[in-house]
Amino acid sequence: MQDLIDEIADLKIKNNATILAHYYQEGEIQDIADYAGDSLNLARAATKVQTSTIVFCGVHFMAETAKILNPEKRVLLPDLKAGCSLADSCPADKLARYQEMLRINGRNFQTVTYINSTAAVKALSDWVVTSGNAEAIIHRVPADQEILFVPDRHLGQYLQEITGRKMILWDGACMVHEIFSVGDLLVLKRKMPGAVTLAHPECPANIREHSEFVGGTEAMVKHVAGFAQPTDFLVATEANMMWRLQKEFPRHRFHPVPGITCACNKCPHMGRNTLEKVRDCLLYGRPEIEWQPEFDRAREVLQRSLLNPEPVGAGAV
Ligand code: SF4
Repeated sequence: MQDLIDEIADLKIKNNATILAHYYQEGEIQDIADYAGDSLNLARAATKVQTSTIVFCGVHFMAETAKILNPEKRVLLPDLKAGCSLADSCPADKLARYQEMLRINGRNFQTVTYINSTAAVKALSDWVVTSGNAEAIIHRVPADQEILFVPDRHLGQYLQEITGRKMILWDGACMVHEIFSVGDLLVLKRKMPGAVTLAHPECPANIREHSEFVGGTEAMVKHVAGFAQPTDFLVATEANMMWRLQKEFPRHRFHPVPGITCACNKCPHMGRNTLEKVRDCLLYGRPEIEWQPEFDRAREVLQRSLLNPEPVGAGAV
């Protein structure tokens, strides 16, 4: 394995490349990355990259976002088939028809879209949010307008609870976060009464309501940093996050909240990327994310939402 890691390091220099990795990638991929983070920080990091090539170790919509924010750079995704069940749950043509139906019915709304969506869906939106900035963006939508939140109904429901804004929720969900077992969580909590439960806001309400902390992956890291004494944490998010937390905080112990059908929840889409595929994409210069017509409009929305959040007037879609 060391040979492979050395080969990637050489190829990275030869290709003038930077490797970005999401926290849901296997630890060995996070280890070789120049920067590991959540969706928001990776999107922001992508705009600061100095090299001509970005290797994005994550799923397709993330690499697409990096390309949209860096049109002049070559963005490689180790496996082009690394998709996302949540993004798939909101096809752009279906969303466009639904928005049209709302307008015909006289509804005055803005569309707030979770970053886990295709560029074509982002292009139909007023705002793009991540779990890290969603609350702040929701507060920017004028009070006299409704919010159509897509595609994650659980995150939308959570945002309704914390902001008090009622929303029209798209019926999508993440296959990983939706299947945590509340029964097993309660068993673990009884076994470890001092443990602190951390849940991602993509989890359903029955998991969130038994959690001491709800937040995205970067917020989890910040929250755990505040515990000086060794502590047990029960973690309800993609299982590779445990690797990140354990590496940063060796004084604590992290336990995955089991899924209904397995002991831990790993995202099969994220899992498509391997060290061999990282090497190969640097070696052959593909798969590459190519510029698509809808990227221009998606770029405006992404820049406003993630890099330079300014209020949007009515009917901005
Ligand atoms: S963990 Fe869920 S939301 Fe994240 S990439 Fe996998 S399927 Fe998509």
